[in-house]
Amino acid sequence: MNRDHHLVIVGGGVAGLDIASRIGGRDALRVTLIDREPAHIWKPMLHTIAAGTQSSSFQQTSFVGQARERGFAYQPGEAIGIDRKQREVRLGPIVADGRDIVPARSVSYDTLVLAVGSEANDFGTPGAGRHCLTINSRGQAIAFNDRMRIELLHALAQDRTFGVAIVGGGATGVELAAEIVQLAEIVQGYGISGLRERVRISLIDTGDRLLRAFPERISHAVAARLREMGVEVNLSVKVVSVDEEAFNLSDGKIVRAEMKVWAAGVRAPGLLSTIEGIQLSKLGQIVVGDDLRSVDDRSIVGVGDCASPRFADASILVPTTAQAASQEADYLVRHLPTLIAGGTAPAFQYRDFGSLVSLGGYDAYGTLGRIGLFGGGFLKGRVAQLGHALLYRRHQARLHGMGRGSLLWLADVLNARVRPRARLS
Ligand SMILES: Cc1cc2nc3c(=O)[nH]c(=O)nc-3n(C[C@H](O)[C@H](O)[C@H](O)COP(=O)(O)OP(=O)(O)OC[C@H]3O[C@@H](n4cnc5c(N)ncnc54)[C@H](O)[C@@H]3O)c2cc1C
Repeated sequence: MNRDHHLVIVGGGVAGLDIASRIGGRDALRVTLIDREPAHIWKPMLHTIAAGTQSSSFQQTSFVGQARERGFAYQPGEAIGIDRKQREVRLGPIVADGRDIVPARSVSYDTLVLAVGSEANDFGTPGAGRHCLTINSRGQAIAFNDRMRIELLHALAQDRTFGVAIVGGGATGVELAAEIVQLAEIVQGYGISGLRERVRISLIDTGDRLLRAFPERISHAVAARLREMGVEVNLSVKVVSVDEEAFNLSDGKIVRAEMKVWAAGVRAPGLLSTIEGIQLSKLGQIVVGDDLRSVDDRSIVGVGDCASPRFADASILVPTTAQAASQEADYLVRHLPTLIAGGTAPAFQYRDFGSLVSLGGYDAYGTLGRIGLFGGGFLKGRVAQLGHALLYRRHQARLHGMGRGSLLWLADVLNARVRPRARLS
């Protein structure tokens, strides 16, 4: 392989930044990472940034800094098209104050890794696109928090209640609901009495239980815990439309809220549909083989939420989770240089180590997975909370190395003692 081989990674999320950080500078490859955000935040943490119980400035990794540390190049900007014939990624202009600060441009590649993640899917529900917020990116989570602080202040000034209604009873919706309860409690502790009762939180899901990817026992325990925390849980109902004031449900109920959040469904970003002649899944993901390369174009690799791997055994499905994205990143760090050099690699194998869901500081629940420790089982409380925290710390260690990752953990422990527990300004 020659050093002129240009590996371009679009998307510096759980998988993309991990690959860039561990392949960049290591192998005989020139690596460029493209991302539309200036910094990376581990996506499973975005609900805490949205609620304001974690600070984006402390939890983010700047792409410019990471590129310098880890020996890859960073190109800021949004990928808006991919031309397979020219082997080019087209980037839109970077606009600020109504001006094109950086013009539209193209980046050519020899091998392209698509790691652009996924977004919520409102299935065309009338009004959802216009009236709902989502928390799928760092920018959206920060914007959510900015808006929530203003709405909350407004409600307090007018001496009225404040509502947040969330569609989607998966991990994102459940974790966001719990985190907002926690925020209300923290802020009440700063002297705003009665705030906790004034914040109304509703969860809405079409299924007959929350967290359908988890065993029923966990779904019921989480629903009961959320209700205890004052969250209204609406199950077996569909949102038929959304307007400025409320979600209108299939059973005739109207759930009013100042902030309406769409946290249901998953689909791949529209960028993938700009690539001519490659197979996409029903969710718009790039269809890849068991070596994670497109089944139609061996110079394009798909990883994480935006990819749908197909195996000889069609019953094997890889979920859209951070756990799967990390395992795929591991596989590519190990085997991509060999594949690029024309060699072969063993098939990627997904191992289910279980799932965890955290209800803020209140509780956490998890499964140990079919192949995980003790052949499967349940976790609850402090042990599950620790498991959830360790997933994040492991990600940081992969990006920054063990030493720096441990220092960042220590810094968080110290900050938690000396700084406010919620973003207040
Ligand atoms: C609130 C929340 C909580 C979650 N909790 C959990 C959990 O507890 N456990 C779990 O396993 N999973 C969880 N998930 C799911 C998990 O975060 C995703 O499965 C995982 O992040 C997927 O990783 P990825 O690398 O594919 O994409 P991402 O981590 O989403 O990264 C995609 C990157 O691509 C960039 N990008 C996208 N489009 C473009 C473009 N056109 N041009 C340039 N850059 C682009 C984005 O800026 C981003 O940096 C959660 C998700 C959310 C939203």
